[in-house]
Amino acid sequence: MPKQRLEGKVALITGGASGIGEETVRLFAEHGALVVAADIQDEQGHQVAASIGSDKVTYHHCDVRDENQVKETVKFTLEKHGRIDILFSNAGILGPLSCILDIDLNEFDNTMATNVRGVAATIKHSARAMVARRIPGSIICTTSVAATIGGTGPHGYTASKHALVGLVKSACSELGAYGIRVNSISPFGVATPLSCKGFNFVPQQVEDFSCSQANLKGVVLKARHIAEAALFLASDESSYISGHNLVVDGGFSVVNRSYPFTPVDPNS
Ligand code: NAD
Repeated sequence: MPKQRLEGKVALITGGASGIGEETVRLFAEHGALVVAADIQDEQGHQVAASIGSDKVTYHHCDVRDENQVKETVKFTLEKHGRIDILFSNAGILGPLSCILDIDLNEFDNTMATNVRGVAATIKHSARAMVARRIPGSIICTTSVAATIGGTGPHGYTASKHALVGLVKSACSELGAYGIRVNSISPFGVATPLSCKGFNFVPQQVEDFSCSQANLKGVVLKARHIAEAALFLASDESSYISGHNLVVDGGFSVVNRSYPFTPVDPNS
Protein backbone atom coordinates (compact mmCIF):
# COMPACT_ATOMS: atom_id res chain seq x y z
CA MET A 1 0.00 0.00 0.00
CA PRO A 2 1.59 3.37 -1.03
CA LYS A 3 2.03 6.07 1.62
CA GLN A 4 -1.21 7.97 2.32
CA ARG A 5 0.03 11.53 1.89
CA LEU A 6 -3.21 13.24 2.96
CA GLU A 7 -4.36 10.95 5.77
CA GLY A 8 -6.68 12.78 8.18
CA LYS A 9 -7.04 15.85 5.96
CA VAL A 10 -10.23 17.39 4.57
CA ALA A 11 -10.14 18.92 1.08
CA LEU A 12 -12.59 21.15 -0.76
CA ILE A 13 -12.09 20.99 -4.53
CA THR A 14 -13.98 23.28 -6.90
CA GLY A 15 -14.51 22.21 -10.47
CA GLY A 16 -14.39 18.69 -9.05
CA ALA A 17 -16.86 17.14 -11.51
CA SER A 18 -14.57 17.13 -14.53
CA GLY A 19 -11.07 17.22 -15.94
CA ILE A 20 -8.23 18.30 -13.64
CA GLY A 21 -10.59 18.73 -10.67
CA GLU A 22 -12.08 15.25 -11.04
CA GLU A 23 -8.62 13.68 -11.33
CA THR A 24 -7.52 15.54 -8.19
CA VAL A 25 -10.62 14.40 -6.29
CA ARG A 26 -9.65 10.82 -7.17
CA LEU A 27 -5.98 11.23 -6.26
CA PHE A 28 -6.66 13.05 -2.97
CA ALA A 29 -9.16 10.34 -1.96
CA GLU A 30 -6.58 7.64 -2.85
CA HIS A 31 -4.23 9.42 -0.46
CA GLY A 32 -6.63 9.30 2.45
CA ALA A 33 -8.28 12.73 2.27
CA LEU A 34 -11.98 13.25 2.85
CA VAL A 35 -13.06 15.31 -0.14
CA VAL A 36 -15.95 17.65 -0.92
CA ALA A 37 -16.15 18.07 -4.69
CA ALA A 38 -18.00 21.27 -5.65
CA ASP A 39 -19.22 22.12 -9.12
CA ILE A 40 -22.22 23.22 -11.17
CA GLN A 41 -22.41 19.96 -13.16
CA ASP A 42 -24.50 18.12 -10.58
CA GLU A 43 -25.15 14.83 -12.37
CA GLN A 44 -21.49 14.44 -13.30
CA GLY A 45 -20.34 15.47 -9.83
CA HIS A 46 -22.60 12.91 -8.13
CA GLN A 47 -21.31 10.24 -10.53
CA VAL A 48 -17.69 11.04 -9.68
CA ALA A 49 -18.42 10.85 -5.94
CA ALA A 50 -20.39 7.60 -6.29
CA SER A 51 -17.63 6.00 -8.35
CA ILE A 52 -15.10 6.66 -5.55
CA GLY A 53 -17.34 6.02 -2.53
CA SER A 54 -19.56 8.18 -0.35
CA ASP A 55 -17.32 7.48 2.67
CA LYS A 56 -14.50 9.39 0.92
CA VAL A 57 -16.06 11.91 -1.47
CA THR A 58 -19.21 14.01 -1.26
CA TYR A 59 -20.51 16.13 -4.12
CA HIS A 60 -21.95 19.57 -3.37
CA HIS A 61 -23.46 22.08 -5.81
CA CYS A 62 -21.59 25.39 -5.85
CA ASP A 63 -21.46 28.13 -8.45
CA VAL A 64 -18.30 30.01 -7.45
CA ARG A 65 -19.65 33.21 -9.01
CA ASP A 66 -22.19 33.39 -6.17
CA GLU A 67 -20.52 34.19 -2.83
CA ASN A 68 -23.49 32.84 -0.86
CA GLN A 69 -23.10 29.45 -2.53
CA VAL A 70 -19.38 29.44 -1.73
CA LYS A 71 -20.09 30.37 1.90
CA GLU A 72 -22.73 27.65 2.12
CA THR A 73 -20.36 25.06 0.58
CA VAL A 74 -17.69 25.83 3.17
CA LYS A 75 -20.38 25.55 5.89
CA PHE A 76 -21.47 22.21 4.43
CA THR A 77 -17.86 20.94 4.50
CA LEU A 78 -17.41 22.04 8.12
CA GLU A 79 -20.70 20.45 9.21
CA LYS A 80 -19.78 17.19 7.48
CA HIS A 81 -16.11 16.92 8.45
CA GLY A 82 -15.48 19.58 11.12
CA ARG A 83 -12.55 21.25 9.33
CA ILE A 84 -10.93 22.24 6.03
CA ASP A 85 -7.22 21.59 5.59
CA ILE A 86 -6.97 21.98 1.82
CA LEU A 87 -8.71 24.21 -0.70
CA PHE A 88 -8.07 23.38 -4.34
CA SER A 89 -9.73 26.34 -6.06
CA ASN A 90 -9.71 24.96 -9.54
CA ALA A 91 -13.05 25.79 -11.19
CA GLY A 92 -12.52 27.84 -14.29
CA ILE A 93 -13.75 28.61 -17.77
CA LEU A 94 -11.95 29.45 -20.99
CA GLY A 95 -14.51 31.85 -22.47
CA PRO A 96 -14.86 32.45 -26.20
CA LEU A 97 -11.85 32.94 -28.46
CA SER A 98 -12.27 36.34 -30.07
CA CYS A 99 -10.21 39.22 -31.42
CA ILE A 100 -9.48 42.09 -29.03
CA LEU A 101 -11.03 44.37 -31.70
CA ASP A 102 -14.27 42.47 -31.31
CA ILE A 103 -14.18 41.38 -27.67
CA ASP A 104 -17.51 40.72 -25.94
CA LEU A 105 -17.14 42.44 -22.57
CA ASN A 106 -20.03 40.54 -21.00
CA GLU A 107 -18.13 37.34 -21.72
CA PHE A 108 -15.00 39.01 -20.34
CA ASP A 109 -16.87 39.83 -17.11
CA ASN A 110 -18.12 36.26 -16.82
CA THR A 111 -14.59 34.89 -17.19
CA MET A 112 -13.32 37.28 -14.51
CA ALA A 113 -16.31 36.47 -12.26
CA THR A 114 -15.51 32.75 -12.45
CA ASN A 115 -11.71 32.65 -12.65
CA VAL A 116 -10.84 35.54 -10.31
CA ARG A 117 -13.81 36.67 -8.20
CA GLY A 118 -14.92 33.04 -7.74
CA VAL A 119 -11.47 32.02 -6.55
CA ALA A 120 -11.32 35.05 -4.22
CA ALA A 121 -14.64 33.94 -2.68
CA THR A 122 -13.35 30.40 -2.11
CA ILE A 123 -10.13 31.70 -0.52
CA LYS A 124 -12.08 34.13 1.68
CA HIS A 125 -14.47 31.56 3.15
CA SER A 126 -12.06 28.62 3.34
CA ALA A 127 -9.34 30.74 4.95
CA ARG A 128 -11.87 32.09 7.49
CA ALA A 129 -12.62 28.49 8.46
CA MET A 130 -8.90 27.64 8.70
CA VAL A 131 -8.05 30.75 10.73
CA ALA A 132 -10.95 30.23 13.16
CA ARG A 133 -9.79 26.65 13.83
CA ARG A 134 -6.06 27.47 13.78
CA ILE A 135 -5.53 25.02 10.92
CA PRO A 136 -2.25 25.47 8.99
CA GLY A 137 -4.03 24.89 5.71
CA SER A 138 -2.93 24.70 2.12
CA ILE A 139 -4.70 26.73 -0.56
CA ILE A 140 -3.96 25.90 -4.18
CA CYS A 141 -5.38 27.69 -7.22
CA THR A 142 -5.28 26.57 -10.85
CA THR A 143 -3.81 29.23 -13.07
CA SER A 144 -2.37 28.41 -16.53
CA VAL A 145 0.54 29.02 -18.87
CA ALA A 146 -1.72 31.93 -19.85
CA ALA A 147 -0.91 33.40 -16.42
CA THR A 148 2.62 34.30 -17.50
CA ILE A 149 2.54 34.75 -21.29
CA GLY A 150 0.11 36.09 -23.86
CA GLY A 151 -1.17 34.36 -26.96
CA THR A 152 -2.07 30.99 -25.46
CA GLY A 153 -5.77 31.62 -24.80
CA PRO A 154 -8.62 34.13 -25.07
CA HIS A 155 -7.92 37.69 -23.85
CA GLY A 156 -10.28 37.45 -20.88
CA TYR A 157 -8.79 34.10 -19.89
CA THR A 158 -5.21 35.41 -20.07
CA ALA A 159 -6.14 38.51 -18.06
CA SER A 160 -7.96 36.40 -15.46
CA LYS A 161 -5.09 33.97 -14.98
CA HIS A 162 -2.52 36.78 -14.69
CA ALA A 163 -4.79 38.37 -12.06
CA LEU A 164 -5.04 35.07 -10.24
CA VAL A 165 -1.26 34.82 -9.80
CA GLY A 166 -1.46 38.28 -8.19
CA LEU A 167 -4.31 37.19 -5.93
CA VAL A 168 -2.29 34.16 -4.82
CA LYS A 169 0.71 36.33 -3.91
CA SER A 170 -1.52 38.82 -2.12
CA ALA A 171 -3.38 36.15 -0.12
CA CYS A 172 -0.04 34.50 0.68
CA SER A 173 1.26 37.76 2.12
CA GLU A 174 -1.59 37.89 4.65
CA LEU A 175 -2.30 34.25 5.43
CA GLY A 176 1.30 33.31 6.23
CA ALA A 177 0.74 34.90 9.65
CA TYR A 178 -1.77 32.12 10.36
CA GLY A 179 0.45 29.33 9.02
CA ILE A 180 -1.66 29.01 5.86
CA ARG A 181 0.16 28.44 2.57
CA VAL A 182 -1.18 29.78 -0.75
CA ASN A 183 0.19 28.53 -4.07
CA SER A 184 -0.89 28.03 -7.66
CA ILE A 185 -0.33 25.54 -10.45
CA SER A 186 0.06 26.66 -14.07
CA PRO A 187 -0.70 23.80 -16.46
CA PHE A 188 0.13 23.63 -20.16
CA GLY A 189 -2.57 22.23 -22.50
CA VAL A 190 -4.40 19.16 -21.14
CA ALA A 191 -7.18 17.32 -22.96
CA THR A 192 -10.25 18.08 -20.82
CA PRO A 193 -13.77 19.24 -21.74
CA LEU A 194 -12.56 22.86 -21.31
CA SER A 195 -9.82 22.59 -23.93
CA CYS A 196 -11.82 20.30 -26.24
CA LYS A 197 -14.88 22.57 -26.30
CA GLY A 198 -12.83 25.75 -26.38
CA PHE A 199 -10.84 24.79 -29.43
CA ASN A 200 -13.48 22.49 -31.00
CA PHE A 201 -11.16 19.49 -30.80
CA VAL A 202 -11.54 15.87 -29.71
CA PRO A 203 -9.15 14.87 -26.87
CA GLN A 204 -6.62 13.27 -29.24
CA GLN A 205 -6.42 16.51 -31.25
CA VAL A 206 -5.75 18.52 -28.07
CA GLU A 207 -2.96 16.12 -27.11
CA ASP A 208 -1.49 16.10 -30.63
CA PHE A 209 -1.55 19.90 -30.71
CA SER A 210 -0.02 20.23 -27.21
CA CYS A 211 2.71 17.72 -28.08
CA SER A 212 3.50 19.57 -31.31
CA GLN A 213 3.92 22.85 -29.37
CA ALA A 214 5.64 21.36 -26.32
CA ASN A 215 9.21 22.07 -25.30
CA LEU A 216 9.49 18.76 -23.41
CA LYS A 217 9.09 15.86 -25.81
CA GLY A 218 8.21 12.27 -25.01
CA VAL A 219 5.55 12.98 -22.36
CA VAL A 220 1.86 13.63 -23.02
CA LEU A 221 0.54 16.01 -20.36
CA LYS A 222 -2.46 14.48 -18.57
CA ALA A 223 -4.82 15.76 -15.87
CA ARG A 224 -3.08 13.27 -13.56
CA HIS A 225 0.20 15.23 -13.81
CA ILE A 226 -1.60 18.34 -12.54
CA ALA A 227 -3.32 16.36 -9.78
CA GLU A 228 0.11 15.10 -8.68
CA ALA A 229 1.39 18.69 -8.47
CA ALA A 230 -1.69 19.57 -6.39
CA LEU A 231 -1.02 16.56 -4.15
CA PHE A 232 2.51 17.81 -3.50
CA LEU A 233 1.31 21.32 -2.65
CA ALA A 234 -1.50 19.95 -0.47
CA SER A 235 0.74 17.57 1.47
CA ASP A 236 3.19 18.23 4.29
CA GLU A 237 6.02 17.58 1.82
CA SER A 238 5.66 21.21 0.69
CA SER A 239 5.26 22.63 4.20
CA TYR A 240 7.57 25.65 3.63
CA ILE A 241 6.37 26.47 0.10
CA SER A 242 4.04 29.45 -0.19
CA GLY A 243 3.43 32.14 -2.80
CA HIS A 244 4.77 29.83 -5.50
CA ASN A 245 3.35 29.37 -9.00
CA LEU A 246 4.26 25.78 -9.87
CA VAL A 247 4.48 25.74 -13.64
CA VAL A 248 3.68 22.31 -15.08
CA ASP A 249 4.44 23.02 -18.72
CA GLY A 250 7.67 21.18 -19.53
CA GLY A 251 9.46 24.50 -19.96
CA PHE A 252 7.04 25.87 -22.58
CA SER A 253 6.64 29.31 -21.00
CA VAL A 254 10.35 29.99 -20.47
CA VAL A 255 11.58 29.02 -23.93
CA ASN A 256 11.66 31.25 -26.98
CA ARG A 257 12.10 29.31 -30.21
CA SER A 258 13.28 32.26 -32.32
CA TYR A 259 16.96 31.24 -32.03
CA PRO A 260 17.77 28.49 -34.58
CA PHE A 261 18.70 25.26 -32.83
CA THR A 262 19.17 21.81 -34.24
CA PRO A 263 19.42 19.03 -31.65
CA VAL A 264 22.64 17.01 -31.93
CA ASP A 265 22.31 13.30 -32.62
CA PRO A 266 24.80 11.76 -30.12
CA ASN A 267 24.95 8.60 -32.25
CA SER A 268 26.15 10.33 -35.40
P1 NAD B 1 -13.06 21.19 -17.17
O1 NAD B 1 -14.06 21.94 -17.97
O2 NAD B 1 -12.93 19.73 -17.36
O3 NAD B 1 -13.29 21.44 -15.61
C1 NAD B 1 -13.66 22.70 -15.11
C2 NAD B 1 -14.78 22.47 -14.11
O4 NAD B 1 -15.12 23.74 -13.54
C3 NAD B 1 -16.05 21.92 -14.78
O5 NAD B 1 -16.51 20.76 -14.10
C4 NAD B 1 -17.03 23.07 -14.67
O6 NAD B 1 -18.37 22.65 -14.51
C5 NAD B 1 -16.52 23.78 -13.42
N1 NAD B 1 -17.00 25.16 -13.38
C6 NAD B 1 -17.04 26.07 -14.40
N2 NAD B 1 -17.62 27.19 -13.98
C7 NAD B 1 -17.94 26.99 -12.66
C8 NAD B 1 -18.57 27.79 -11.68
N3 NAD B 1 -19.03 29.02 -11.97
N4 NAD B 1 -18.72 27.28 -10.44
C9 NAD B 1 -18.28 26.04 -10.15
N5 NAD B 1 -17.71 25.23 -11.03
C10 NAD B 1 -17.54 25.70 -12.28
O7 NAD B 1 -11.67 21.90 -17.45
P2 NAD B 1 -10.21 21.72 -16.80
O8 NAD B 1 -9.29 21.82 -17.94
O9 NAD B 1 -10.14 20.57 -15.90
O10 NAD B 1 -10.12 23.08 -15.98
C11 NAD B 1 -9.75 23.13 -14.62
C12 NAD B 1 -8.88 24.35 -14.39
O11 NAD B 1 -7.64 24.16 -15.10
C13 NAD B 1 -9.44 25.65 -14.90
O12 NAD B 1 -9.21 26.67 -13.94
C14 NAD B 1 -8.65 25.94 -16.16
O13 NAD B 1 -8.56 27.30 -16.44
C15 NAD B 1 -7.32 25.34 -15.78
N6 NAD B 1 -6.43 25.02 -16.90
C16 NAD B 1 -6.77 24.08 -17.81
C17 NAD B 1 -5.90 23.79 -18.86
C18 NAD B 1 -6.23 22.77 -19.92
O14 NAD B 1 -5.53 22.71 -20.94
N7 NAD B 1 -7.25 21.95 -19.76
C19 NAD B 1 -4.68 24.46 -18.97
C20 NAD B 1 -4.37 25.42 -18.00
C21 NAD B 1 -5.24 25.68 -16.96
